[in-house]
Amino acid sequence: MKYEIRCSTCGRTSLDLLSFKCSSCGQPLEVKLDFAFEKSAILKRNYSLWRYAKSFPYAKESDIITLGEGWTPLVKFQNNTYLKLENLNPTGSFKDRGTTTLLSALHKSVKNAEGYVSEDSSGNAGASVAAYAARAGLKAKIYVPENVSGPKLNQIRLYNAEVVKVHGERSKVAFEAQKTEKNKFYVGHILHPLFRDGIRSLAYEIAEQSDWQVPERVYLPASAGTLLLGVLSGFKHLVASSVIETMPEIVACQTSQVSPLYHRLKKLRYTPPTKVESIADALVSVNPPLLDLMAERLKEAKGDAVMVEEDEILNAFRELAGKGFYVEPSSAVAYAAYKKQLKTKQTSKEDNTVIALTGTGLKTTLKLN
Ligand SMILES: [Zn+2]
Repeated sequence: MKYEIRCSTCGRTSLDLLSFKCSSCGQPLEVKLDFAFEKSAILKRNYSLWRYAKSFPYAKESDIITLGEGWTPLVKFQNNTYLKLENLNPTGSFKDRGTTTLLSALHKSVKNAEGYVSEDSSGNAGASVAAYAARAGLKAKIYVPENVSGPKLNQIRLYNAEVVKVHGERSKVAFEAQKTEKNKFYVGHILHPLFRDGIRSLAYEIAEQSDWQVPERVYLPASAGTLLLGVLSGFKHLVASSVIETMPEIVACQTSQVSPLYHRLKKLRYTPPTKVESIADALVSVNPPLLDLMAERLKEAKGDAVMVEEDEILNAFRELAGKGFYVEPSSAVAYAAYKKQLKTKQTSKEDNTVIALTGTGLKTTLKLN
């Protein structure tokens, strides 16, 4: 066995690729890798994340559903600071990394059962699942909060997915998407281990594009935790495989409104706002189901968390755009956090740094005077 899917809490193994939580205790599942990452296994002429196909053994090469995701540019920004342009993925966000592994592994089983896939999302993941389902010839039903931005909604609909708007909290949207219905297969990106696992590829790419000399720090926006957990798992795999010597310091970046991980890490009490009104509208998980796992894995890896205010996000968003990088405000949170740490001298422009720009600015509805 080259990998196992195991419960993050009780350790029970799951044999069904369609499972999204432990059948015994209900806690999140994780993919455990039982093989070493080998540079020689990289398919060098494949310019997508599938150049690492050998590292995703649950997706048969003949079953891969791809739109050319991954292998996004790592661009020098200033001094030793680099930007990883995840906004250039096929549907405009990093989510495509998880969707391609998830649906490559599952689309045949869903099709054989004459089923369709369901997902809950604040926008980007919904668009991604809708696109890859379309590519696989599967029907998708996407559950979204009422306030999801117009451009994201258009995108989901144009991929031919059915959209269900849910009134109430973000957790209610997830509940509706998971509700049992005939032929419905829930592939929710937050809970499904095969989605999170695809994000590992981002760590491989940062390492390969840095000539296997990993940066000192990597800044990631953190909300539901899929990006954070996936990247941590990827770097951990590279260390365990002796491909790199040490983990970079992973910095989880949150908004002051949505910062449960920051508060947990700093041992502070977190009181979420009754309504999230941040311009970083893709970061909405005030009570993320993976919070325990995020905190545990980030601590293990000696990572850090930073919280930024609205004006800092807006400034970072404008500054990036003013230098040609048009990303969504939620992505600018990582750059805002980096700038904050520059000010407090927790980092320096000379340190090798990677900031992930997670989503395109073309989906934003933010209007500036
Ligand atoms: Zn369990």
